[in-house]
Amino acid sequence: MPLATLRQVLDEAAKGGYGVGAFNVNNMEQLQGIVSGAQEVQAPVIVQASRGAIAYAGPQYLRNLVLAAVESAPEIPIVLHLDHGDKPETCLMAIELGFTSVMMDGSLLADGKTPSDYDYNVAVTREVAEAAHAQGVSVEGELGTLGGIEDGHGSGQVHLTDPDQAVDFVEQTGVDALAVAIGTSHGAYKFTQKPTGEVLAMHLIEEIHQKLPDTHMVMHGSSSVPQSLVDRINAAGGKLEATFGVPVEEIQQGIRHGVRKVNVDTDGRLAITAALRETLNASPKEFDPRAFFRPAREAMKQVVIERLTQFGAAGHAGDYEVLPLEEMAKRYAGERVGV
Ligand SMILES: [Zn+2]
Repeated sequence: MPLATLRQVLDEAAKGGYGVGAFNVNNMEQLQGIVSGAQEVQAPVIVQASRGAIAYAGPQYLRNLVLAAVESAPEIPIVLHLDHGDKPETCLMAIELGFTSVMMDGSLLADGKTPSDYDYNVAVTREVAEAAHAQGVSVEGELGTLGGIEDGHGSGQVHLTDPDQAVDFVEQTGVDALAVAIGTSHGAYKFTQKPTGEVLAMHLIEEIHQKLPDTHMVMHGSSSVPQSLVDRINAAGGKLEATFGVPVEEIQQGIRHGVRKVNVDTDGRLAITAALRETLNASPKEFDPRAFFRPAREAMKQVVIERLTQFGAAGHAGDYEVLPLEEMAKRYAGERVGV
């Protein structure tokens, strides 16, 4: 089966009333953990790479690793998505490389730090959507800004999404999915205390869903930062500070109101770090890297199994045939001429 598009996977998720986890990948073990986790629970999965990940692994490695994943797990719909594209050129480069979905984050200027104005966001996002859709590739946009900084990306300021502006944005840009800012942040240090529905402005999700029932919402910065992982890292010599993530119940509430893509990066990082620290400490005479990477890969897999199950995606991998890009391109062309 070919790589799936975000549009198809999220359309199916909307039909089934579940959310799909989007997990960040930088290397082979992370990817293997993600895909074997999805296989274990037979769920579709979104693999996403940031610009930093592409730079770290190298574009050719990243692309071929994901193609290897598709080959080894042909029964699982797998999307290859660009996380936080900073400018149209980056998105076009990713499409060229074989990504089936790109995020054009026009909420920030191309420096990835300065909040942009609305007209700029509409212009760059529309430009990417037109080019991507012509090739059948899906597009995620962002309206409002998230807190925190991830891979050097982020303004550090929170600016919540305005529901009426969201309607106009989707209409003007034609995006398939919309990242909404509801008070979540990137990174491990999201909240200093357990966030409630009010802290998270969950009402915005409900409002946007009412106004845009056919637009798939994306929650960024949605790691739950389990205390058990933070404790294990610190018990094994780490020095993480006390922190709280987004409770899974809040994400599940979002899914009930139109959230279909849930970005989880930090939880996988924490699980890998915990496994590495523990095995390195437990086996001081060991020097075969596989002894350390194998449990790290398994830890990533467990995070993926848990989240895909909690988001309701488990068991849905076989619900549909993955459509090739040409088929998706035809659909977009049909949409444009009103067929
Ligand atoms: Zn993000």
